[in-house]
Amino acid sequence: MPATETVVDAPRRLPWRTAEVREVIAETSRVRSLVLDVPGWPGHRAGQHVDVRLTADDGYQAQRSYSIASAPEAAHVMLTVEQIEEGEVSPYLAMDVLPGDKFELRGPIGGYFVWTAKLDGPLFLVAGGSGVVPLMAMLRDRVRAPNPGPALLLYSSRTGDDIIYRDELDRLAARGDGLTVVHTLTRGHPPGWTGGTRRVDREMLAALGFPVAASPRIYICGPTPLVETAAAALHDLGHAADRIKTERFGPTGGPP
Ligand SMILES: Cc1cc2nc3c(=O)[nH]c(=O)nc-3n(C[C@H](O)[C@H](O)[C@H](O)COP(=O)(O)OP(=O)(O)OC[C@H]3O[C@@H](n4cnc5c(N)ncnc54)[C@H](O)[C@@H]3O)c2cc1C
Repeated sequence: MPATETVVDAPRRLPWRTAEVREVIAETSRVRSLVLDVPGWPGHRAGQHVDVRLTADDGYQAQRSYSIASAPEAAHVMLTVEQIEEGEVSPYLAMDVLPGDKFELRGPIGGYFVWTAKLDGPLFLVAGGSGVVPLMAMLRDRVRAPNPGPALLLYSSRTGDDIIYRDELDRLAARGDGLTVVHTLTRGHPPGWTGGTRRVDREMLAALGFPVAASPRIYICGPTPLVETAAAALHDLGHAADRIKTERFGPTGGPP
């Protein structure tokens, strides 16, 4: 290794902090947001995540990553967790945790999948399921940009009832500041549904997305198959690889 090269291992240098649950918000039947008091929290950038560590009475510990949903300037750190069937950690966070409960977290982590309101130009966000969480932090941050560029969120959910942050996304899109939100549903849609009715694919991205010449910053987050499909399609359509940032949730992922 050259002498100038340094090994970056940020998580190891970050201290574990005790987070106290201040509020629990039901987002869907399988997803809850946790508003946390984290004494000493150093602040974060939209798109970063934390490690959460749970410790059982017998000392057994389990650790998972969760994106930060709140905007950098928010008073409290918000996480949004989807219950994964048979999961070790997510059922506790998404179903059982109560205001006043405490657990450990460390962060913020990640310097690649980040966006700030200071960045100009078009913003193209593609989300599947709970992959919308870090993208929501970006959209919450975008509100404070004095002259935000155009933004598009293409968001894939299983059904209408599985759309996370639905009302807030409607409100953000109604501000008239250049944000468009397009939903697509992969497992059935209600009568009169005007959004997409299939998984995100090349044709959908080509029809909805910004032209290559606009050079949008692209952030894709969700289950691995969605992320890989969308990233490959956008690259194939001509978007430069260094404009496409991806984050995968879960080892195998799954629908949507
Ligand atoms: C950087 C990063 C940020 C993340 N942010 C969030 C977030 O904001 N909200 C959120 O809900 N999750 C997020 N995740 C996923 C999270 O870290 C856990 O993987 C998830 O909560 C499942 O943990 P578990 O202990 O319940 O399941 P485990 O006990 O780890 O796994 C149980 C079973 O479910 C499968 N599985 C694990 N994760 C998933 C998944 N995501 N989808 C489908 N199947 C899965 C496993 O293969 C296994 O078969 C993020 C992951 C990463 C890497």
